[in-house]
Amino acid sequence: MRSGFEAQLRAVSLRVTRPRLAVLAALRDHPHVDTDAVLRLVRAEHPTVSHQAVYDVLRALTDAGLVRRIQPAGATARYEARVADNHHHIVCRSCGAIADIDCAVGDAPCLTASDDHGFVVDEAEVVFWGVCPDCATEHTAQRSASSEGST
Ligand SMILES: [Zn+2]
Ligand SMILES: [Zn+2]
Ligand SMILES: [Zn+2]
Repeated sequence: MRSGFEAQLRAVSLRVTRPRLAVLAALRDHPHVDTDAVLRLVRAEHPTVSHQAVYDVLRALTDAGLVRRIQPAGATARYEARVADNHHHIVCRSCGAIADIDCAVGDAPCLTASDDHGFVVDEAEVVFWGVCPDCATEHTAQRSASSEGST
């Protein structure tokens, strides 16, 4: 695994550093996490890595195309190591949980604009919104709890 990340970094002419390897490993194991979560995951293994270092690594990896940054409306930016495909995301309106959805078409843009106004279209940003299974269950539980507990 480690050597895979090293090869990825070298392929985009980035120096192999421990924080970069740690961030890539964290994102492989925990997709769609925000900066704070990445920091926690990296520090669990490398306690001396600074917030600024993780921030810089995320930006460098995103710029190099090794990490994808997504930011659903109203949410903090999330990062993932699954890149180079045109997969989409489904976001829970209640807790912000995010899951991957394979693109039915595969390549961007996967929707055809009814009128492109002469633009060269290269991407259609598709985000699915809904309520995740956990929240759907919780809402049902909360409703019954509040009706019992109300005075
Ligand atoms: Zn949810
Ligand atoms: Zn994803
Ligand atoms: Zn698609």
